[in-house]
This record gives sequence, structure tokens and C-alpha cells, in this order.
Amino acid sequence: TQTLRLILGDQLNASHSWFKQVDPTVVYVIAELKQETAYVKHHVQKVCAFFSAMAQFADALAHCGHQVMHLTLDETQPFTDLPTLLEQICTQHKLNTIEYQQPDEYRLAKQLDELSLAGVNNTCHDSEHFLLPFDDIKREFTANKHVKMEFFYRRMRKRFNVLMQDDEPLGGQWNFDQQNREHLKKTDLKDIPSPLLFANDVSEIISRLERHQVVTIGKAENQLLWPVNRRQSRQLLDYFCQHLLIRFGRFQDAMTENSKADWSLYHSRLSFAINAKILSPSEVINKVISHWQANQTEISLTQVEGFVRQILGWREYVRGIYWINMPSYATKNALLAHRPLPEYFWTAKTKMNCMHHAIQQSLDYAYAHHIQRLMVTGCFSLLAGINPDEVDQWYLGIYIDAIEWVEMPNTRGMTQFADGGIVATKPYAASGNYLNKMGDYCKTCHYNVKLKTEDNACPFNSLYWHFIQRHQQQFDRNPRMTMVYKNWQKMDTGTQQAIINKAEVLLANLDNL
Ligand code: FAD
Ligand code: SF4
Repeated sequence: TQTLRLILGDQLNASHSWFKQVDPTVVYVIAELKQETAYVKHHVQKVCAFFSAMAQFADALAHCGHQVMHLTLDETQPFTDLPTLLEQICTQHKLNTIEYQQPDEYRLAKQLDELSLAGVNNTCHDSEHFLLPFDDIKREFTANKHVKMEFFYRRMRKRFNVLMQDDEPLGGQWNFDQQNREHLKKTDLKDIPSPLLFANDVSEIISRLERHQVVTIGKAENQLLWPVNRRQSRQLLDYFCQHLLIRFGRFQDAMTENSKADWSLYHSRLSFAINAKILSPSEVINKVISHWQANQTEISLTQVEGFVRQILGWREYVRGIYWINMPSYATKNALLAHRPLPEYFWTAKTKMNCMHHAIQQSLDYAYAHHIQRLMVTGCFSLLAGINPDEVDQWYLGIYIDAIEWVEMPNTRGMTQFADGGIVATKPYAASGNYLNKMGDYCKTCHYNVKLKTEDNACPFNSLYWHFIQRHQQQFDRNPRMTMVYKNWQKMDTGTQQAIINKAEVLLANLDNL
């Protein structure tokens, strides 16, 4: 053996060209590392999902005849970080080459880029996962500049010939958002299918985490419900096609607390499997499109296009934004937000029903769907002016699919506007009215969504106007915000002052809402 090939926890891509042939001079290393459990406080289910999927991947490779070294925390415990572990393995086994796949995270890319072990050559390979080649990121994106997702997405549709007819988008339109995005009526609730859950035994991993004092958050379950191998991931994809695709776009932005399926609705829950590279984005897109082609009488193009846009558009887009803007992106704070994250983000103990629900569900399942992340916890943090570093840490830790390259542009950029508009053209700020329109949390909330200044007024309302008023300089010339500022000016100064005073009281007592 001469070559060590490193496989990171989110590089479980069985179709990678590395694995086409069994090479006796190569040993594959898959290692659980303390550094990876400690760079942020992770949800326990997230750590379990990665460790379990890594173990399964190592088994699958060994089964195909590859030489594999799968190391658990028990074995890697003496090594402070990845380079020291690699050094030890190379020395012990007299290896002279390290090969790795391009990491998706800046932190790891830097660590491996700077790796320099005596007598060992390093080579970086493509991860063969994304549609847009890494080198093309600099052609599609410019540092510190807004790139419109919609146009990027159209270029991707053309380039990869997805949902196209000649040079035109299938159905004559690029985007069907207008027809989608309904709220759920009471009668719709009974139709929502239960989520497909797995029961992977992770009890050994949980005791290992305890043994090594890995600090985690959220509810630990010995039976992990997330998919951890190819078979389960493909099953989840099939389930999505058969039961959820039909109303995916229609209820993409809906929220409810009134259903057994409330925590994932018509969402696919494929993000972990895709981000760990167990499934490739093109495989997911192709499968969904071919399922639709075979079932066009039941499933409309609007549902399929809505889904394809998330993967071919948004997912590839945030990766480009991340790489073109790192490392400065990680410290951006354009709105100078400095308040600490309230304690209830870790406990769900808040009287705001929408927040309670989104956070409790995140602690229970390591999952919230997009609109909960964007318009509940994200919007609240924006309105309250929470420090984006703390907001980032929370999102990066709590979600099953959270890896910095995809978490950060969504959080710091899309929800917090901390990048000053690289991702979003206007802040995703909304009052309680939006949540009341798209969900049913307000009905049973301690607060009254119709009120602004009273004791029991919905906090989102006065905080919204406070946000609008305190950032007037940044936003009042933004054409997408003209109406908002007109509405603010229409209020008499007494009303304006009462709202601002109310918000000031809330901001001084954020922990008690
Ligand atoms: P579905 O609704 O079924 O969508 C299908 C797939 O599209 C997802 O699996 C995902 O791969 C992709 N996708 C959808 N929206 C986005 C998006 N905005 N950016 C990138 N990919 C997208 N996604 C992550 O994968 N990791 C994160 O750490 C993450 N953090 C987020 C933080 C915030 C504040 C917000 C607003 C969004 C974040 N997202 C993140 C995007 C999105 O919310 C999740 O991808 C989605 O909720 C995962 O659930 P799903 O698989 O059921 O998605
Ligand atoms: Fe959330 Fe306000 Fe509705 Fe309560 S009233 S659920 S705080 S939006």
C-alpha cells in the first residue's frame, strides 16, 4: 500500500471514480474525529446520522474488495486534529501519498490545503457531486456582488438541459411560484401523508459520544429515523415521488401545527442524504422528472419545477455564493446586529407559538422545513437584531443537513441580510400577518396577531416596524420596499411612537417573550 485516500463524512459518494476499480495500493480512511464534533454544538441526531452513514459506507466499500480503515472516536481520540491523525497513519503504514476530495467547507479545505507532511505528496480530486464544476464558480459569481438566483437557475436549466424544450422552458415559463405557495385549509390536513421514517440502531454511537464527552443538543433516540445508506436514501426518494411530489410546490410555504405530519408536510427530507453525497443532485432531479413524465395526468409541471429549482437552482447557487465570498462572508454583519440569541432557541420555552413549535420540532427531529427556518426563527432573529454569528452557530448545529457551505448563505445571507444583499434583494422581514396567513400557529398562541402595542400583542408586529424604522437609511430607496415605507409614513406619529416604544420594551426583554 502506498496511497491514503481520505473520505470525509460528507463525501459518501459511492459513484465516485475512485471506486471504479479495486486498487491494492490504496487504503481508504474514514474517521470519526473530535474536531468535527466540536467546531459547533451539534444536534445529537446529526452526529449519529453522519457516524452511522460513515460506518455503512466503510462496510459497503470493504464489501466490494477495497481496503478500508474505519476509525471511531475510540481510535482517533489521541489525535487533536485531522493532520496529526493523517501523519500517524502515513508513518505507521509507510504511505507516501494522500489523496482527498475537494472539501465543501472552507475550514476543511484550508486544513487540507495547508497539509504538509514530510515525504508525503498531496493531491486534491473533484468530489464529483455538484452539477456546476468547481472551477466554473468564478465564472458564474463575483465576490461581494449580488447574483440573481433566478437567472443563475435559468442558465443551469439550459446548460444541463433540464425541463427544456429546445431553447425554451417546458410549459413556456421558468417559474410557477404564482400558482404555488398556498396555505393549508382544514380539509387539506387529513391528506398529508405520514413521513417515511427509518429505525437505525445508533445506541453504540450514542454511548460512544457519552464516553468521549461530546456535547450535543436535542433529543437523542436509539432508533435514528434518518436514512444512512443508499438503500434507505433511494427509498426516501421513491416515497417522495410517489406521495409528496404531487403537492410539493403547492404547499411549499405552508405551516401547520395540526397534523401528525406537521413537521415535514410535503417536503422531501432528502437534504441529509444529498448533503452527505449518498444521493447525487442529478440522480434526484432525474428520478423526480422521470416519475413525473410517467404520471403527468396526476402530477403537474408546477410541482416538479418547484422542486427542481430547489436543487438545480438554490442548492448550486448557495454553494457558489459561499465559495466566491469566503472567508470574508463568515464575518459579515451589514445590519450591525449584536443582541445575543435568546435562551429559548435551546429550550423552545417561549410563549410565541410559532417559535415554540419551530424550535421544539428542531430539537425533537433535527429538522424544520424551509419556511419555518426562513420565516419563523430566521425572521424573528432578523427583526430582533440577533448577532449573525450566534444565529449561524445555532443553524449550523441544530439541523440534520447543516454543513457550513449551505447553512451560511441561507442564514447569514438570506435570512439575516448580514451580507448586505449578496443573496437577497430585500430583507425577509415580515410581521405576524404573514405567519397568520401561511400557518395556523396564531390561533392557539398566547399573543394576539392582530394587535401591535397591547400587552398581549404579537411581538412580530412591533418588532417588524422597529426593524423597518431602524434600517430606514439602508432600505428606503430600495424599490421593493417603497410600499412598506409608504405604509409606515401613513401612520400618525403617535401610533408610530407607541409601536417603537412597545418594540423597545420587547427588545429589552427578549428572553421573556
Ligand atoms: P425540500 O423542501 O424537500 O427541498 C428539496 C431539496 O432542495 C433539499 O433537500 C435541499 O437539498 C434543496 N434546497 C431547498 N432549498 C434550499 C436552499 N435554500 N438552499 C440549498 N438547498 C436547498 N439546507 C441545507 O441543506 N443545509 C443547511 O444547513 C440549511 N440551512 C438553512 C438555514 C436557513 C436559515 C434556511 C432559510 C434554509 C436552510 N437550508 C439548508 C435550506 C432548506 O431549508 C433545506 O435544504 C430544507 O429545509 C431541507 O429539507 P428537505 O430536504 O425536506 O427540503
Ligand atoms: Fe407567532 Fe405572533 Fe402568531 Fe403568536 S401571534 S404564533 S407570536 S405570529
